[in-house]
Amino acid sequence: MVATMPSSVPTMECESPHFLMAQRQLDEIAAEMGLPSQLHERLRYPKRSMVVTIPVRMDDGLVKTFTGYRVHHDVALGPAKGGIRFHPEVNLGEVASLAMLMTWKCALMGLPYGGAKGGIRCKPWQMSLGEQERLTRRYTSEIINLLGPDKDIPAPDMYTNEQTMAWIMDTYSINVGHTVPSVVTGKPVSIGGSLGRHEATGRGVAYCARRAVKHHNLNVEQPTVVVQGFGNVGSIAAKQLYSSGYKIVAVSDVHGGIRNEEGLDIPRLMAYMSEFGRVAGFPNSTTISNAELLSTKCDILIPAALGNQLREDNMESLDCKIVVEGANGPTSPEADIYLHEKGVLVVPDILANAGGVTVSYFEWVQGLMQLFWTEQEVNERLEQIMGRACDRVFALSQERTLRPRMAALRLGVSTIAEAKRLRGLYP
Ligand code: NAD
Repeated sequence: MVATMPSSVPTMECESPHFLMAQRQLDEIAAEMGLPSQLHERLRYPKRSMVVTIPVRMDDGLVKTFTGYRVHHDVALGPAKGGIRFHPEVNLGEVASLAMLMTWKCALMGLPYGGAKGGIRCKPWQMSLGEQERLTRRYTSEIINLLGPDKDIPAPDMYTNEQTMAWIMDTYSINVGHTVPSVVTGKPVSIGGSLGRHEATGRGVAYCARRAVKHHNLNVEQPTVVVQGFGNVGSIAAKQLYSSGYKIVAVSDVHGGIRNEEGLDIPRLMAYMSEFGRVAGFPNSTTISNAELLSTKCDILIPAALGNQLREDNMESLDCKIVVEGANGPTSPEADIYLHEKGVLVVPDILANAGGVTVSYFEWVQGLMQLFWTEQEVNERLEQIMGRACDRVFALSQERTLRPRMAALRLGVSTIAEAKRLRGLYP
């Protein structure tokens, strides 16, 4: 158990279990690297947090009020960058912890960004497209002073997508009086999005999985893979690994899981998913529960759905050699330590799912230059950046006998610490 730092900052509204977990990770690496205590204390909290009330006219004519958040954790390296999620469990603590992770992730990947995150507490699946559009536009208008291509650049996250980004870009552009595509990333290609952005996170996850197989000296001809979550990240990671000859033996979505030890036909499963909206019932597969999915024997387990899925109460049942974290925060600190001690290689979220923000960076650069790259150029540059980050994390992890998560954090935190030291304290 890692001791938390005694703090002179009074308890903040963001101190939820999610946020305390992010702080504990920082505390652990700060102690290991000897981070100066004043800087450590500053980095334990967001730079700024905005909570907004969003009135929305619903389809029945009544007005319903929602709560929204946008948090900037640190902006020492550049504009704040981070996704916006729509989910009923969104709260200030969750958003603040994800903003902190974004700071470390961008720094680790060498991107000129600070860390941000946003969200609206809502049930998007119970809302019409028109209601979602009005919600998105009013939220954008409420947080507009934070946004801008040099200030804060949102992207999609859970239950938001290219269309959501198009609405944000349009609302911002109308308010400032001219079109500003670079205020968001993850937007449709026809209005300035990047080729390869939609697939980037899943592609990066698959890339890390292949790199981890080599690093772990996994000498199997056809590594077996289990994927929790078959949305953007999970389905694309599965498809990429399937194309590389890996055997995907089980996958799941919010409705349940399926298994076939001989391997699932992923292109067919993707077609089935678009027709039926779920993986359950796919021909030649057995239906399994979420718990059965996680304990399925495999070489590589990819959690690509929610946070806190591999925990103290199920870590002993896991039967894999490598975990590649597609989702944000899927492994609790206890499970991370347990798996590491058991010899399981855990590729942490800030590395494994950084493909999305990396290609978001490419999209922003292309938009600012008004010069667009081919999909091949995007994918090659993504592989270069992901490869370099994987090598640095695995090397530091070995050199200092750190868990890969701590090695990745150390690289991210030391970059921020150096930037803050050089910039100094104002005034
Ligand atoms: P998504 O909405 O496209 O897909 C989420 C998937 O998880 C869906 O298949 C859903 O059915 C499934 N799911 C939800 N609850 C589940 C449960 N209890 N059990 C099993 N499956 C469940 O979202 P996404 O964009 O694929 O994001 C997934 C995760 O990856 C999130 O943690 C997100 O923060 C993280 N992430 C996404 C990106 C990105 O670019 N999309 C980038 C970085 C991190």
